[in-house]
Amino acid sequence: MVVLATRSAGKLRELRPMFAAAGIEVVDLVEAGVAESPAEGAVECHETFEANALAKARHFHEVTGQPVVADDSGLEVEALGGAPGVRSKRWSGRDDLTGQALDEANNRRLLVELEGVEAAPARYVCAAAYSDGVRDLVVRGETRGRIVRTARGGKGFGYDPYFLSDELGATFGESTRDVKERVSHRGRAVRRLIAQLVAER
Ligand code: IMP
Repeated sequence: MVVLATRSAGKLRELRPMFAAAGIEVVDLVEAGVAESPAEGAVECHETFEANALAKARHFHEVTGQPVVADDSGLEVEALGGAPGVRSKRWSGRDDLTGQALDEANNRRLLVELEGVEAAPARYVCAAAYSDGVRDLVVRGETRGRIVRTARGGKGFGYDPYFLSDELGATFGESTRDVKERVSHRGRAVRRLIAQLVAER
């Protein structure tokens, strides 16, 4: 059994089927009975996705005593020098918002920052980490695309309606969960992580 250390409904929707397909039983933080604490936000203070993912996995392993998988991910826009990067979740500065309202505030900032910028190549990055107190693993997945200025599709979460995937020729907002998973940063990172866990079982 593995604890999926995220409170993001969007991430959980994508993570659960990947573990189910590998026959690995998972519980989320609510199911594991982990109440939200100020400490958990504070562990994500690093400058790389890998360091943040590992810090989250180790933190929640200490809290639960169980094997933990954590995901740290974000959007890097070339014309913005790689921003929002590891600050993707809180880019809008709206600490009072969560869920879809927070996603909308982040997307508004994305469009403002890109005003007057012609081409907007970008990539999503995901670091997926595992910690069980004995062994730590961390792997990365990436996917390339560009930012469109008008939202396309209501699927996915976060920046997805604005991320036009090079490989799909559609935004992630227009793509079903399984189509997104095939090429996405999270799909790639988590498949690699699961392959390592299964190989070492
Ligand atoms: P984290 O919880 O610090 O890893 O924050 C990740 C943030 O990056 C999310 O809140 C989204 O804003 C953004 N993000 C990461 N992965 C995705 C994705 O697959 N689709 C859309 N937004 C994403």
